[in-house]
Amino acid sequence: MTTDTAPSAANQPIEADAVIVGAGPAGLFQVFELGLLGIKSHVVDTLKHPGGQCAELYPDKPIYDIPALPVCGAQELVDRLLQQIKPFGPEFHFGEEVSLLRRREDGRFDLQTSTGREFIARAVVIAAGLGSFQPRRLGVEGAEAFEGRQIHYRVKSAADFYGKHLVIFGGGDSALDWVIDLAGKAASITQVHRRPEFRAAPASVVRMQELVAAGRMKFLEGTAAALRTVGDRLTGVTVKRSDGGMVDLDADHLLAFFGLHPKLGPIAEWGFALDRKAIAVDTAKFQTSVPGIFAIGDINTYPGKKKLILSGFHEAALAAFAIAEHLNPAKKVHLQYTTTSPIMQKRLGVNE
Ligand SMILES: Cc1cc2nc3c(=O)[nH]c(=O)nc-3n(C[C@H](O)[C@H](O)[C@H](O)COP(=O)(O)OP(=O)(O)OC[C@H]3O[C@@H](n4cnc5c(N)ncnc54)[C@H](O)[C@@H]3O)c2cc1C
Repeated sequence: MTTDTAPSAANQPIEADAVIVGAGPAGLFQVFELGLLGIKSHVVDTLKHPGGQCAELYPDKPIYDIPALPVCGAQELVDRLLQQIKPFGPEFHFGEEVSLLRRREDGRFDLQTSTGREFIARAVVIAAGLGSFQPRRLGVEGAEAFEGRQIHYRVKSAADFYGKHLVIFGGGDSALDWVIDLAGKAASITQVHRRPEFRAAPASVVRMQELVAAGRMKFLEGTAAALRTVGDRLTGVTVKRSDGGMVDLDADHLLAFFGLHPKLGPIAEWGFALDRKAIAVDTAKFQTSVPGIFAIGDINTYPGKKKLILSGFHEAALAAFAIAEHLNPAKKVHLQYTTTSPIMQKRLGVNE
C-alpha cells in the first residue's frame, strides 16, 4: 500500500481508472470491491489519516452492528479494512481536499486537490460522508481576517513560532502536544482551556502541569472573548475566565486546537442535485446524475437510505460492478465468489 502524504503535488496529472473521494469505511471498502474486479484506486482525504468518522469522531467506541463481528472498536474496524485492502495497493493522498471535480469532453473527469494535485479519472466515487473534516474555529468576531497569518488551526512549520508570544487554545492531544513542543522555544506560552479537565493523554497533562509549576508557561481556565488589534495587526486576545473575570493577553499568534468537524465543503459546488446535503443516486449502481460518477456511504441518498457503515459496504459492492461496466462497456461482469474464483484469489494474493 502506498501512503503519499507529501504536501507538494506532482506536476503531471495522475491518470487513474478510479479516484475515490474520502477514506472513511465506505471509501476503504470501495477499494476492496474494485480490487476484486481488477480495478486499482487512488483515494484522497482531507484528513491526514484513513477512517473518516470512525477514526476522527469515535476511535475508541465499540461498534456492534458489523456483520460477523459481535463487537469491534471503530479504529479497529479501520485497521481491519486497511489490512483487507492491502493486496490491492491503493494509493492514498492524505491531507488533501478534492476542491474541483469536472467532466471532460472525452468523458473522463478532472479532479484537483487543495495542494494542486490533479487527476484524470475514468470513474469517480464520492465517498465523502458528512463532508470533509475541517478545524473548529475560534468563535470570536473578526478571527477570519487573521487566519493563516496570526490565527492558526494547524501548525505547518513549528519554527514560525520560535521566539514568539503564543496563546494556545484547547485541551486535547493536539493542544497539549504543541504546548509541550513549543515550551522553551516560544518567547511565552499561555494555554487557555475552558475547564480544568483535559481530553489529552494523561502523560501530556502531567508534563504540561510540570511546565506550569516550573514557570515555563501559564495556564488559564476560560474562553476567548475578543481579539485585540492595532490596525490590521493582532496584538492579543481577551479571555473570559471561568470565574467571569476578563484577562488581556499579549500575543503574536493564537493557535486553536478544538478538533475537527465535517463540512460538506466543495461538493456543494459540483453541480449535483442535493437533498439535505446528500447526493441522489440510483440503487442499482449508486451512480449520480452524471454517468461515471458514483456516490456511496453517508454522502448519498435514495428512498430508504440509512446512514450506516453496513449500507456503505453494500453500496460499494454494487458500485464496483457498475464501475467495471462503465470502464469496459463491451465486457459483461460476471458474479464470482472469492471462495472459488482463481482470479479473485490471485488478486487477493492468497494461494500463492
Ligand atoms: C459517534 C458515532 C457513532 C456511530 N456509530 C455507528 C455504529 O455503531 N454503526 C454504524 O453502522 N454507524 C455508526 N456511525 C455512523 C458511521 O460512522 C458512518 O455511517 C460512516 O462513518 C460513514 O462512512 P463514510 O465512509 O460514508 O463517510 P465518513 O466516515 O464520513 O468519511 C468520509 C471521508 O471523506 C472525506 N472527505 C469529504 N469530502 C472530501 C473532499 N472534498 N476531499 C477529500 N476528502 C473528503 C472526509 O474527510 C472523511 O474522512 C456512527 C457515527 C458517529 C458520529
